[in-house]
Amino acid sequence: MGQVQIVWFKRDLRLADHAPMTEAARRGPVLPLFVYEPELWSLPERSGRQDMFMRGALASLESDIVRRGGTLVLRVGEVVSILSDLRDRFGDIAIHAHEETGDLWTFQRDNTVRAWCKKNAVKFSEYRQFGIERGGDTTRNGWAKRWDQMMESAALPEPPAVDWIGADSDTLPPTQPDPSVTWLQCAGRRAAQDTLQSFLEDRGEFYQKDMSTPVAGEVGCSRISPHLVWGSMSMREMYQATVNRQADLRAGPAEERGFWLKSLNSFVGRLHWHCHFSQKLEDQPDLESRSMIPAYDALRERDAERLERYATGTTGFPFVDACMRYLAANGWINFRMRAMLVSFASYDLWLPWQDSGKVLARFFTDYDAGIHWPQVQMQSGVTGINTVRVYSPVKQGLDQDPTGDFTRRWVPELSHIPGKAVHDLTTVEAMAAGYPTPIVDHKAATAFAKDQIFSLRRDPALKVQAAAIMERHGSRKRQQRRRKSA
Ligand SMILES: Cc1cc2nc3c(=O)[nH]c(=O)nc-3n(C[C@H](O)[C@H](O)[C@H](O)COP(=O)(O)OP(=O)(O)OC[C@H]3O[C@@H](n4cnc5c(N)ncnc54)[C@H](O)[C@@H]3O)c2cc1C
Repeated sequence: MGQVQIVWFKRDLRLADHAPMTEAARRGPVLPLFVYEPELWSLPERSGRQDMFMRGALASLESDIVRRGGTLVLRVGEVVSILSDLRDRFGDIAIHAHEETGDLWTFQRDNTVRAWCKKNAVKFSEYRQFGIERGGDTTRNGWAKRWDQMMESAALPEPPAVDWIGADSDTLPPTQPDPSVTWLQCAGRRAAQDTLQSFLEDRGEFYQKDMSTPVAGEVGCSRISPHLVWGSMSMREMYQATVNRQADLRAGPAEERGFWLKSLNSFVGRLHWHCHFSQKLEDQPDLESRSMIPAYDALRERDAERLERYATGTTGFPFVDACMRYLAANGWINFRMRAMLVSFASYDLWLPWQDSGKVLARFFTDYDAGIHWPQVQMQSGVTGINTVRVYSPVKQGLDQDPTGDFTRRWVPELSHIPGKAVHDLTTVEAMAAGYPTPIVDHKAATAFAKDQIFSLRRDPALKVQAAAIMERHGSRKRQQRRRKSA
């Protein structure tokens, strides 16, 4: 039979533009493997909604493999013991997988797999699938240009001929119950393609404007995030579809372009950000638990009651509570409101970002450690290199939900309060509605928080650390802009 080529599917549940599949199919018989890891799914940032979405994407991959005449081998347990079992069964094996920038848990699991392969003389080939780089130059010099090159290089077609090999599969355990979720995005390759196509041709014209609000953002944002997390389409496929659409628009009548070109440029910028943020976690895997500037970790205090009120959307700040309840029900909210929710936890409630970050992660169907933890750190003011941005819940409510309808819908206790008054309640109104009074005084709480953060920022030793962080993780684009405008 020759060497069995195991393609270990992780967060890349597709056959097209899949370098491990292409290489494995070239070399010999292919055994497609997915390992469901119960320990991973029991981590506090994992949730039933993420699991359900992943299973949808997995089912789509499975049916694509069946369509091509193969069978997906599904196993439950620890990857190393499953690989060891397959090696006992088939003798000579080689493993192919994509590089993964994930939790500390998956980082350590991958190290264990590499060590096992080395010890057992099993060839383990890992391939890039994003613009995220592993090893090599540890600064960001030239990174953005290499990202462009990666996205512009040819996407791989599905391998034309595959000699499939099967093996026994396990039955997946039931998903964790997730009672707050009322709606789940459709998963799988077809859903990913349809979502992108409807964004590029129909929903995305006002993306730049729509993305600020949860109301218009629900339709006007691309909504491709969970598909990117589980890899039903590659980022390169998404990038190239976007660039092709831009070329078609440019070739067509100018009056039909509207806001499309600007919006799609902005979307491409967000794809770039995906990798820019994930690169930080790739370079420093402990960022999910330690502040970039560790001294900030001693500042904030754990508070179970505050955290509970935050998580249940009962803080007494109507727009914050509406956003949290909307997120809990839908598994998604727009970028600006994610930033506001972190700002509220980290400045108003003065909670450690590690705790509030886990609450949010569980609610996100698109939880992606590579984006999430660097973003949570940035919005909490602990990186030393980003502007400290404190969001006012009242201002955000007035700006992003000017009619107040969104807030009344998600905080029905306040449904009798008309118009924008819902954003700035008096105590009497709140008490009459049975709605909690504000958990903190926003002005006083955030003044205290800023004072604490800025007094650390002024520390000369921390300024040195911040300069090193800028060198390691900072975007060169911003530096170039600064140099040009100087
Ligand atoms: C505190 C915080 C936590 C976040 N956690 C996650 C997370 O766990 N998973 C996740 O996918 N996104 C996360 N984001 C980024 C962003 O909010 C979501 O990607 C976006 O809202 C998803 O919706 P969309 O696909 O319609 O986005 P679009 O606006 O259509 O963007 C397209 C894609 O670009 C990437 N992207 C967009 N905005 C950002 C950004 N600010 N930083 C990095 N990449 C970006 C995402 O992959 C996204 O799917 C977080 C943002 C904040 C402020």
